[in-house]
Amino acid sequence: MSAAMGQPDSGTVRVRYAPSPTGKPHVGNIRTALYNWLFARHHGGQFIFRLEDTDQERYDPEAEGAVYEALRWLGLDWDEGPDCGGPHSPYQQSQRLDIYRGIADELIASGAAYPCFCSRERVSQVRQARREANLHPYGYDRHCRALSREDADRRVAAGEPHVVRFAIPLEGATTFEDEVRGRITHQNRELDDHVLLKSDGFPTYQMANVVDDHLMGITHVIRAEEWIPSTPRHVLLYQALGWTPPRFAHLSLIVNSQRKKLSKRDGEVDVGEYARRGYLPEAMANFLALLGWAPGEDREIMSLEEMVELFTLDRVNVSPSVFDLDKLEWMNGMYIRQLSPDDLVAKTLPLLQGARLVSSDLDNGERAYVSQVLLLEQERIKRLDEAPELTEFFFQDTLEYDPKGVRKWLSPPVAKPILERLLQRLEELPEWTGENLEAAIRGCAEDLDVKAAEVIHRARVSTTGRTRGPGLFETLTVLGRERVTQRIKTAMERFLSD
Ligand code: GLU
Repeated sequence: MSAAMGQPDSGTVRVRYAPSPTGKPHVGNIRTALYNWLFARHHGGQFIFRLEDTDQERYDPEAEGAVYEALRWLGLDWDEGPDCGGPHSPYQQSQRLDIYRGIADELIASGAAYPCFCSRERVSQVRQARREANLHPYGYDRHCRALSREDADRRVAAGEPHVVRFAIPLEGATTFEDEVRGRITHQNRELDDHVLLKSDGFPTYQMANVVDDHLMGITHVIRAEEWIPSTPRHVLLYQALGWTPPRFAHLSLIVNSQRKKLSKRDGEVDVGEYARRGYLPEAMANFLALLGWAPGEDREIMSLEEMVELFTLDRVNVSPSVFDLDKLEWMNGMYIRQLSPDDLVAKTLPLLQGARLVSSDLDNGERAYVSQVLLLEQERIKRLDEAPELTEFFFQDTLEYDPKGVRKWLSPPVAKPILERLLQRLEELPEWTGENLEAAIRGCAEDLDVKAAEVIHRARVSTTGRTRGPGLFETLTVLGRERVTQRIKTAMERFLSD
């Protein structure tokens, strides 16, 4: 028996992340993966990746790739499943059709399921009519449940197209204990006889999910709140098959600031986009973890290891969590500040190269310059993709000048004597250090009996083109003597010559 099909040793936690590859991975979906992973690692258990690709019409190979990529980016490794060295098929539902067919046959034989020959049109008319008449349960009217076994068998044998439906008990209630929300009960009479196997031979989610959770020995199902209405259907199926259900934990919705379910309209919900926009995976994982989990003691900044240590389901919140982009940015900034200089360069360089500010083959000197430039911004930046805009003046041969700054600070006759004197002072500097530069600038102000700010602003606009940026003395230090003097001369020629 393969690992995928085996039962866990008693006491071993086995959880799964079971995405349907139909679209780009939504942040909520990746949070589910993260919680399952944290739970597995916390308990020394296994994290299983299962591809729920039973909806052939909506299957999207790019989405499948994007899910693997998102998990890898965040550092969530899986122990069993596709793309992790082992065989792919046991974890891909489209490769397990025989298993579901066999179980559907068993259910038909025991009377817990039945073939249904109703056309799609009939089913949708019935659904609409029942809704309009407020007849419960909405949905299918159990027409084929009344067929005799012989009749049904004969039609199946004759090859008549059909689905297999679950015969929901007509009375009673179904209860399960949710690890996050406590006891949840549904009345069976509210449930229609849902489809287990479609006419194309593919199982529905409602069937494949249960069968696989059982066969793969899943001990805890941790998934989004939207699946709560399906859970009684699952529990009833476990009962019909004589299987013990796993434990369930349903995670609350992620909402926008208006407390509505987070959707595309609220901005980016595709995790891959955050990777492309210069968020660090450590920050994203930390942020996602806190959307619905409170580790206590107001802890916020935590590595994956620390989160593994602390993660328990009893600290998962029942109330919805607001996706607060400002908080993510803040957190990302915190992580950026923790990067070593080498990491900072390695992660930001591709963005600078993408913006054509630096070439793709840097020599050591150029690399050191990039590193110094980035270190200046490390304290302020919230996303790495801000770096090109913030630092471009360090790399440009021809500056773009802010017209307002030019008007205010580079108009003769005041600016000219100041910059001339500054140039002299700078040329006299023995060593190009922050301290010396500060002394030169302040000395220049004293020489001319003006405030230091009069010199500082002019020095900034003429050497960076901007009115704002990192500390001027540090900026000039990094730009270096040659660039600074050249830039002051260029600005004087451009704006201050008669
Ligand atoms: N395939 C389902 C999804 O896309 C899995 C839900 C579950 O975890 O049961 O989310």
